[in-house]
Amino acid sequence: MNKAELQKSTEGYSIATVGELSAFEGKAFVKELLGTSSIELSFGTLSPGQSVPFFHHHKQNEEVYVVLSGEGVFILDGKEEPVASGSVVRVAPCVSRNTKCTGSVPLVYICIQGKAGSLEQYTMTDGVVEQ
Ligand code: ZN
Repeated sequence: MNKAELQKSTEGYSIATVGELSAFEGKAFVKELLGTSSIELSFGTLSPGQSVPFFHHHKQNEEVYVVLSGEGVFILDGKEEPVASGSVVRVAPCVSRNTKCTGSVPLVYICIQGKAGSLEQYTMTDGVVEQ
């Protein structure tokens, strides 16, 4: 699969899938499918030797990339930073970025973006434990 598909949507929650991650190829954004209001999330894969076809930065959103499998480099303001399965990379909005798969298997990652500085409460200050 190379896109996300909505499986269920109710007023309170939505469920989408990109299918089995090991078979996923390309890039898929899920904000519109899920109806999120505070973050965008995308799944991405790069084949061995492949880079994202452009460098980019953001106006107001920071991004967090979570590498699920494979090996690669993030090029952040011109500096190459190696990553591998389990790496988590935060990138401030103004930082120029690109990603390249340097391993022999695809680099699979998710990218979460949200407005920098917008998170006011989280985890135990926002979560309410129910009895
Ligand atoms: Zn971006």
